[in-house]
Amino acid sequence: MSYDNASIEELANALETEKAIRDNTLREISEIERKLKKKQEEVDPIGTVAILLHSITCKHNHTDGCSWFYEIVNGVHDWSRSEHAAQRHRAMLLLSSSVKKGVDADTVITVLKELQK
Ligand SMILES: [Zn+2]
Repeated sequence: MSYDNASIEELANALETEKAIRDNTLREISEIERKLKKKQEEVDPIGTVAILLHSITCKHNHTDGCSWFYEIVNGVHDWSRSEHAAQRHRAMLLLSSSVKKGVDADTVITVLKELQK
């Protein structure tokens, strides 16, 4: 197969267009993921705090060490499993003591995200 200059240019343009479409799609997916995460925080602040607490405090291997990853099935956290239940309990304690002191869940989540960096 051979290409003349025009077909090479067409091919380059087609590749450029395809790359632009792919980049745009990845940006859209990223934005949807961000909105979904924010919605999840609004719907389940305890779960969000539990996930952050695990991320910040657990120093084990998350499969064989603490089982966190085994307790996530098809991307869904199973809060009835041991590690998830323990982290959720810690999250409830943290949130309830924070709220009693006038610190809302949004602020707790913001602080934990800062600690996670
Ligand atoms: Zn872990």
